[in-house]
Amino acid sequence: MLSYRHAFHAGNHADVLKHSVLIELLDYLNQKDKPYWYIDTHAGAGAYALDEGYATKNAEFAGGIGRLWQRDDLPEPLARYVEVVRELNPDGRLRHYPGSPMCAAQVLRDADRLRLFELHPTDNKLLNDNLGQDRRSKIEQSDGFTALKAVLPPPPRRALVLIDPPYEDKKDYQRVVDGLQEGLKRFATGVYVLWYPQLQRLEVRQMLDKLKLLPVKWLHVALTVERPSVDGFGMHGSGLFIINPHWLLRDSLARQLPYLVKQLGLDNGARFVLETSPEDK
Ligand code: SAM
Repeated sequence: MLSYRHAFHAGNHADVLKHSVLIELLDYLNQKDKPYWYIDTHAGAGAYALDEGYATKNAEFAGGIGRLWQRDDLPEPLARYVEVVRELNPDGRLRHYPGSPMCAAQVLRDADRLRLFELHPTDNKLLNDNLGQDRRSKIEQSDGFTALKAVLPPPPRRALVLIDPPYEDKKDYQRVVDGLQEGLKRFATGVYVLWYPQLQRLEVRQMLDKLKLLPVKWLHVALTVERPSVDGFGMHGSGLFIINPHWLLRDSLARQLPYLVKQLGLDNGARFVLETSPEDK
């Protein structure tokens, strides 16, 4: 079952949260000279056109990056994220959006490496078109969960792993927990970022309950943009479960999240969650 296409959602509120935090984490890794790997288990197409094709269907980007694009009062990490999006839009018109691999490619240094996994044949081809020429990247059309086991631990013993499945298959909620447990056994010191959608589903709650029991340092951040719908369908926000976050991230997010709630919130259900593992409280 591979019907999910990220192009429909590129640049929406969930991408804003995911990609701004991703860039902040990678910038932090860059503070040390030692190279690292960026591993993206569900990489998508790498970059998306916003003015044609799928992205124009519901124009989800208008409620995400579109609301930050023209602002001149962005808190610093969000200003940095918009700067990365600007690299793809040098004429100032918002027409292209970088997916997670392209965000990472802009932040990584010469000696760092990208390991990108994308199973969908069409998106895998687009990913190759977008990043195949980058000599730092290696792209594979394989299952991201299985591939993760094979690449850990990474040779430089430093890495950030993004796990961003579509969750169109309910089994993904358990596979991410198993994948993280397995990953931590092989590479306990890695930085892991798991994205999830806020949906009215028991599986989301159960997944978070299991993740919070992992014996690691974690940070959970979620951005809700609207009240859950009465019919029980649709995504009303998203979250990131981050393992081994750097020590400044919590305070930095605490400064940015009220701004994101104000700019991206659609009704009085808009809010954020920021919580850390018990030993950090
Ligand atoms: N990480 C991307 C970003 O932030 O720009 C978006 C990824 S999108 C949410 C999920 C992607 O996973 C889709 O492109 C889908 O085709 C792909 N996919 C689905 N199942 C997969 C699997 N088992 N292994 C690798 N990729 C998969």
